[in-house]
Amino acid sequence: MRSEEGFRLLGRVPGSNARRGEIVTPHGTIRTPAFVAVATRGTVKALSAHDAASLGVEVLIGNTYHLALRPGAEAIGARGGLHGFTGWTGPWFTDSGGFQVFSLGAGKVHGVGKIASIFPGETPTKPVGESLVELTEEGARFRSVVDGSWLFFSPEEVIRQERLLGADVVLPLDECTSPFHDRTYTKAAMERTHRWAERAVTAFERTRGLGPNPGQALWGIVQGGAYEDLRRASAKVIAGMGFPGFAIGGSLGRSNEDMLRVIERTVDELPADRPRHLLGIGTVEDILAAVNLGVDTFDCAAPTRLARNGALLTFEEAGFRMAIKNARFRDDDRPVEEGCDCPTCAQHSRAFLCHLFRTGELSYYRLTTLHNVRFMVRLMERVRGALAGGRSPSVDVLRES
Ligand SMILES: [Zn+2]
Repeated sequence: MRSEEGFRLLGRVPGSNARRGEIVTPHGTIRTPAFVAVATRGTVKALSAHDAASLGVEVLIGNTYHLALRPGAEAIGARGGLHGFTGWTGPWFTDSGGFQVFSLGAGKVHGVGKIASIFPGETPTKPVGESLVELTEEGARFRSVVDGSWLFFSPEEVIRQERLLGADVVLPLDECTSPFHDRTYTKAAMERTHRWAERAVTAFERTRGLGPNPGQALWGIVQGGAYEDLRRASAKVIAGMGFPGFAIGGSLGRSNEDMLRVIERTVDELPADRPRHLLGIGTVEDILAAVNLGVDTFDCAAPTRLARNGALLTFEEAGFRMAIKNARFRDDDRPVEEGCDCPTCAQHSRAFLCHLFRTGELSYYRLTTLHNVRFMVRLMERVRGALAGGRSPSVDVLRES
């Protein structure tokens, strides 16, 4: 990393952990707190790279597991990595596939395989399903969801693939645990994640020069489930390895209170001069709570998934969302949100979008994804504005801004 790259802290709210900053990468600067748009397979679903940039998105996150399955890290590496292959030339993150260790393994056995359901507030279902992952000290053997073949992911192999993908910020292989794992298992998985982190650091050093992006940064992932002492222990160990940034991964418990406590304890043990990313959290309320606890970046598939499922994000509605299929929108000629500057709101009415949803028109996906992604960008602009003015970004502060 060149000396000017890394994290700059621009300001803090007095009496709070909430802060504003910048993450400087070889492919551009990310203003924090920031929403990291999910591009699992190299694209934000239903959008082009040009769309994402024109909406004000500053950073995307891809998934090493999914990209390794199709089209393969070698194929992407041969085309200049993610920056060359996808048309998104701004900052990239790549997640490691650690979440898939969970979702295709214990998540399936515990019946919590869907992304959202390991997070607080989701109702657990009964144990069902067979694991598609064999986990050993060496790594994780996966059954491909594409063709049933087996893939082997070790910490070293994940780093090699991430070198070829060339993202600016890369995450090591980790093991997420389920809220149904007991303390003993969660502790063992956490300790394995620490050993894998050490191996990833060594592999990252050994592979310098491989792939299209010599300025990559490897961040550490904190695990430990919802157990406060384990989270503290994990944050201390991972912080001690000297990573330039950190991600908070895995189960954050079964309730909102659990989640907030876990984030608070974790952040407490992480160095204040390094950025902190929260993996896979994205409701408006959760983002605001996490910002106030000192988290800098967030990724979540929810805004794009919600758009496809008919939930449009708006500051005007309770819960920040409206169900566009609702009959009350059939004759509503207003835009999704008054004052939204997205291309959809500039040109189209709720009545039209309601019609597109009900008739299954393909343009529905693009138009509503444009709006929801722009909502997230506007949300983070308001968050940064509140912080710049020395205020904690509560729901009330954001609605009045
Ligand atoms: Zn809009």
